[in-house]
Amino acid sequence: MCCDLKRRFLLLYATQKGQAKAIAEEIWQQAGAHGLEADMHCISEMDKYNLETEKDPVVIVISTTGTGDPPDTARKFVKKIQDTTLPPDHFAHLQYGLLGLGDSEYTFFCNGGKTVDRRLQELGAQHFYDTGLADDCVGLELVVDPWIDGLWLALKEAFKLQKERESMSSIVDGVSSSLSAAPQIVHELNLSSEVQNLKLEDKELGSSDVLTQKLVDINLVASTGDTEPSLVRSVPPLSQSSLNIPALPPEYIEVQFQDTHGENPHLSSLISEATTFEVPVTKAVQLTSKDAIKTALLLELDIADTDFDYQPGDAFCVICPNNVNEVQELLQILGLSEKGECFICVKVKQGTKKKGATHPQHIPERSTLKFILTWCLEIRAIPKKAFLRALVECTSEVGEKRRLQELCSRQGASDYTRFIRESNVGLLDLLHAFPSCKPSLNLLIEHLPKLQARSYSVSSSNLYQPGKLRFVFSIVEFPACPTRPVSQKGVCTGWLAELVAPLLHPNKNTPDTEGGSPSIEKIPIFARPNNTFHLPADPSVPFVMVGPGTGISPFIGFLQHRQKLREEHTDWEFGETWLFFGCRHQDRDYLFKQLRCFLENGTLTHLKVCFSRDSSTAEVAPPKYVQDVIRLYAKEVARVLLTERGYFYVCGDKKHMADGVSDAVVDIISMEMEVDKLEAMKILAVLREAKRYLQDVWT
Ligand code: FAD
Repeated sequence: MCCDLKRRFLLLYATQKGQAKAIAEEIWQQAGAHGLEADMHCISEMDKYNLETEKDPVVIVISTTGTGDPPDTARKFVKKIQDTTLPPDHFAHLQYGLLGLGDSEYTFFCNGGKTVDRRLQELGAQHFYDTGLADDCVGLELVVDPWIDGLWLALKEAFKLQKERESMSSIVDGVSSSLSAAPQIVHELNLSSEVQNLKLEDKELGSSDVLTQKLVDINLVASTGDTEPSLVRSVPPLSQSSLNIPALPPEYIEVQFQDTHGENPHLSSLISEATTFEVPVTKAVQLTSKDAIKTALLLELDIADTDFDYQPGDAFCVICPNNVNEVQELLQILGLSEKGECFICVKVKQGTKKKGATHPQHIPERSTLKFILTWCLEIRAIPKKAFLRALVECTSEVGEKRRLQELCSRQGASDYTRFIRESNVGLLDLLHAFPSCKPSLNLLIEHLPKLQARSYSVSSSNLYQPGKLRFVFSIVEFPACPTRPVSQKGVCTGWLAELVAPLLHPNKNTPDTEGGSPSIEKIPIFARPNNTFHLPADPSVPFVMVGPGTGISPFIGFLQHRQKLREEHTDWEFGETWLFFGCRHQDRDYLFKQLRCFLENGTLTHLKVCFSRDSSTAEVAPPKYVQDVIRLYAKEVARVLLTERGYFYVCGDKKHMADGVSDAVVDIISMEMEVDKLEAMKILAVLREAKRYLQDVWT
């Protein structure tokens, strides 16, 4: 085996939010324990590797962003390999394994990885290992962990083959060309989401710490006859099993408290992709009645004094802080309550073993501790297994320690999924459940991801209301549960709702409003333009809009814009417009009753609404959901979309609605064009490709 020692392979990652990078780093780390050397680079660093001459196996970890695009860091690479002048054997010398990351709730699942994989195949490259497609919707680790486990064996075989090829070519010079097309080694790993029970034990491995603990050591097992496992309680067989836990990730951040004072960095310094603006909230309206299941708010921002520009259909981002009480609580648990306002300096630890350790871009080098916990870190993020692994080292109570080990172990994978991931357990929940766990601040900075700005669709037209931007959102609410005794609101929507409460209830005597009008709050925003979800450039083209719930939001902007154009250009020809809207109850959450005005003034040609929870006395029950209503208008939809080459827009909930709508459209195409379902799906794919079937969907 010694001849395999320190064999090199090239490891490329293409990351958008850091997940692909973190997984590549995990591979890099494990490689050492397998006697291999991973030459790791971001795929954008094209001066550091050369696939044209690469002889060693290549491993690629690549995520997906936007509507099925490769991450920004892979753009140049993809452009390069998509050069149509490249010959079909351009990469015939290349052996590679690819791990794609994605989210199956989006239409183009793992498309970033699939695009690169397909193109490498077209250019003659060969898989030495089956492609893995990991789904963030059910848990990336369900595919990632077994994929990495299987990688080592696949790499060994690839090296063996490479060696055989090299020695053959030295013996029989000239025959080597026929050998270069060596049979592809495909490992029969079924890398689907059901893979969680896959067990790949390599006894020789030193990558994981193998733990065997006797039952007597464990405090938390079901000693009281309680046989149900929970976040903190483990039951046999897991509580009695030996555990394979991941290697301890090397620390790489150093935090120094400073005596100095000063100012925190401006929020704009946290955003590299766009210019940020702090704009006043000039209006807040509650669109739903008090008894509606979800509360929807409309906010109006004054952008008149800024360069912020938008088109109807664009979205924009709100930079939001973490909940102030949660930050306080975290400081308290960390034993740093008194130090929240202290300035800290965050640096990369000298001599860290973490490969390619760099200063995290979302953390200012110098700011107060509170600033970092409030604006920079997603403190509610679901802890990854590597984080749990690191937390084990900060936990003193033996039973708690064992349970954390279990939760990050291979054997405890289904407990991790059930009690952490599916239960949306965040760091604070974990620290409450495991009170002897006292992590250091540097560990939190290393493991908590960036607090992401939240996107919202613009619900206004700059033509109709110059200098204003409106948007609509539902306040996200999470009810209390066993791991969290109090209910919570979404980070951004909870913050916004609290911020605009004085505008919504101006008569309530809050300290802000006493004796005068409510103070005007400002929120930080930046643009998130899109290139496709816009009105058709030609106003005579008909279009259909489908937007249940808050999905109606961008279409209000479309209709306002269209109304203004109609007023200003009486000689233009305007195409027919359809709007399908749905909500639960007509009298509780019909967000925009003034849609009727658009209908009356001719801006909207057809308005079709449905109410999913209203009871009906009609003999034939009315349709409940927008997709049901669309089916009732199959002929008209087919005419607009297929005969008149119109546009079809869908906005709103991706989980429950978007797929239902596209299924309805497939059925309509199949029925109206008299083709089978597969053919209809192909036609829909062509419409998507032509950007005439457009979706703007979110969870
Ligand atoms: P978060 O705190 O981020 O929570 C949201 C999600 O986190 C939950 O759905 C759940 O999956 C998970 N989660 C977190 N904690 C828990 C818990 N304790 N229990 C269960 N689950 C939990 N939204 C609108 O309302 N209107 C819009 O116009 C709109 N437009 C959008 C446009 C785009 C392009 C995109 C990408 C998104 C859009 N969204 C819109 C969604 C919006 O960006 C936010 O995701 C949403 O408002 C929730 O943000 P939040 O911070 O309040 O919730």
